[in-house]
Amino acid sequence: KHVAELIAAGEVVERPSSVIKELVENAVDAGATVLTVEIKNGGTTFMRVTDNGCGIAREDVPVAFLRHATSKVKVQDDLENIATLGFRGEALASIAAVAHVELLTRTADELAGTHYVIFGGEEECCEDAGCAQGTTFVVRDLFYNTPARMKFLKKDVTEANAVAAVMDRLALSHPEVSVRFIRDGKETLHTPGDGKLKSAIYAVFGKEFTAGLMPVEYAYNGVEVSGFVSKPANARPNRSMQHFFLNGRYVKSRTAMVALEEAFKGSLMVGKMPACVLHLRMAYGSVDVNVHPAKIEVRFSNERPIFDAVYHGVKTALNQWDS
Ligand code: ADP
Ligand code: MG
Repeated sequence: KHVAELIAAGEVVERPSSVIKELVENAVDAGATVLTVEIKNGGTTFMRVTDNGCGIAREDVPVAFLRHATSKVKVQDDLENIATLGFRGEALASIAAVAHVELLTRTADELAGTHYVIFGGEEECCEDAGCAQGTTFVVRDLFYNTPARMKFLKKDVTEANAVAAVMDRLALSHPEVSVRFIRDGKETLHTPGDGKLKSAIYAVFGKEFTAGLMPVEYAYNGVEVSGFVSKPANARPNRSMQHFFLNGRYVKSRTAMVALEEAFKGSLMVGKMPACVLHLRMAYGSVDVNVHPAKIEVRFSNERPIFDAVYHGVKTALNQWDS
């Protein structure tokens, strides 16, 4: 049983950034509006995620660490679920199987919070603790019991950069959440959480990048496109600043990328690439994606509506900018 547990854990937990991705998604699901992530040594020795969400009731705490225990609805037809279906209710169990996990949590109607410690998947402590409403997870010594996985970890700075990328995507996909990231004691990201995408972009990419953007707001054939693209003069040397989100989730879509670049054709200097932060929204029912749970690439059964919406949305923004 123990070996099976470790193998299953490896599917979800590949490196520190995958732990952080799961924990911050849980925090957002819990309704958090303020979320702080701290890591040390690339997250390998220490990760802490603090949220002001709904918290976990005492009797639900041990249950949350059981595989396939989830408090979340299981509707098959939303992208969120299709993308993570294989992992439903597996994150906490998987993390606890390969690290030392400590939890502080309190719901709104509990007087006392819960301090819970789980080590190697075994409960070590469950006691009263005073704490604010919300949840704090501390994850220490990732892969202490799976040296083979430990060996695959890259240098601390590389792992920390992967966590930073997860935090950037979180900030850009949830402008309504104030996101803070502290790396080896230094704050490297802090978004206001005012609900404005532009504020999040400013916090993530800085003043100069933000100043070079123009807005996109377009709906076409059931696909809504909103966000920002670079003005032609502010194009980039490569594609690294093209960011797409589908129904609030970071995705890579070849179709969206081609549509973006197609719309910019003739407006850019040779060798320049447009930058963007674009949110695509479509009815969950019409999202027929073909993805592996761990991958971010999406493919649609019909790519046309995505192409058209991005192309015309960006083209419209460019025309308005020109005139
Ligand atoms: P899933 O997110 O798929 O439900 P997880 O293993 O990630 O599975 O989490 C298990 C359960 O623990 C969640 O369904 C939720 O009830 C609870 N939980 C986890 N993190 C939080 C959090 N930050 N705030 C409130 N509840 C949480
Ligand atoms: Mg989860």
